[in-house]
Amino acid sequence: MRKEDFPILQKVIYGKYPLVYLDNAATTQKPRQVVEAMTEEYYNVNANVHRGVHFLSQQATELHEASRETVRQFLNARSTSEIIFTRGTTESINLVASCFGQAFMKEGDEVILSEMEHHSNIVSWQLLQARLNIRLRIIPITDDGHLCMEEYEKLFNERTRIVSVTHVSNVLGTINPVRDIIRIAHEHEVPVLIDGAQSTPHLNIDVQELDCDFFAFSGHKIYGPTGIGVLYGKEKWLERIPPYMGGGEMIKNVSFERTTFNDLPYKFEAGTPDYIASTGLAKALEYVTSIGFDTIQVHEKDLTNYAFERLMEIEGMHIYGPKAEEHEAVISFQVGNIHHLDMGTLLDRLGIAVRTGHHCAEPLMRRLGIEGTCRASFALYNTRQDIDALVEGIQRVSKMF
Ligand code: PMP
Repeated sequence: MRKEDFPILQKVIYGKYPLVYLDNAATTQKPRQVVEAMTEEYYNVNANVHRGVHFLSQQATELHEASRETVRQFLNARSTSEIIFTRGTTESINLVASCFGQAFMKEGDEVILSEMEHHSNIVSWQLLQARLNIRLRIIPITDDGHLCMEEYEKLFNERTRIVSVTHVSNVLGTINPVRDIIRIAHEHEVPVLIDGAQSTPHLNIDVQELDCDFFAFSGHKIYGPTGIGVLYGKEKWLERIPPYMGGGEMIKNVSFERTTFNDLPYKFEAGTPDYIASTGLAKALEYVTSIGFDTIQVHEKDLTNYAFERLMEIEGMHIYGPKAEEHEAVISFQVGNIHHLDMGTLLDRLGIAVRTGHHCAEPLMRRLGIEGTCRASFALYNTRQDIDALVEGIQRVSKMF
């Protein structure tokens, strides 16, 4: 599907063609439409946004704010006031941990996370813990990689202030029951942050329907540029939490005695925003939307099911996480006792890009009793041929051991 939109996929690596790129959970490749829109803006529009009276500045501002509207529509947020541009999921989560923590948490208060979180959704809260001495409560996972929902319910008490969990695991491919997670938290009057880094590229997101309080995602994982991401927050929370960073854009008036802050969303956007990247992000979201998540889902489901089927033909293959039907397009595996790093390195020599290691989820690795895995993750441009190449590659590597 649409491989021709992604020039990098035509690259020859170690004399192997075509490149089999299966590291999409780390970052996706960019279609021409995204790169060209950004180049076009640099060549023909570039000027700093919001502060200029001149033509180019106004045009750049219009483009930047139109991109915010595109993000709003993509998430189905109520208002563009609720769309904050950040550098990515990591910054979005840090913003919430730091600012929500400052406004609403004190010593002994608790945040609920899960055992399958990415480090960005663990360490951000540990930084707050170091400041305020809060407690991290952890939802355990089952052996087949699902959250233990009964244990989740038991974690709530009068000190619970926020729940912060991933929508889709970047290791196990588990799609978490975020609607139930949010409903249960709300029954306890506790807000929820959803880490959407791995769900936005694959699933249709409607923040109003989910009723999440915060939602974070990264542009580069959804065919957009690096260096930009989004924090969605319900206005009622964003109004009540303090700014994250100080600087230009985020203020109304400044004096040495008293500074007043700008309206939403600018209160959280100190300094010159990456207005070129916001254009790229909007293009990427338009690109995905023009294909449609129904089509993307059918295609990626087919790839995931096919990958399970074919990978299981390999002797000694172990796939972590839920069964194929419940799996998003991320597959972590181990073959016999071949070290994941050896497997990844040798696959690379065959022109197949996978990821190896702990995938920024060391507590999850510890739970699984392993150091790391090999991970193949799919995007809309991957094909069954890519999976055949992966299977053949693994078989070749296995024979060497
Ligand atoms: N959460 C999850 C589930 C992820 O997979 C990632 C990226 N691997 C992140 C957060 C962090 O995203 P970024 O590095 O783009 O900020």
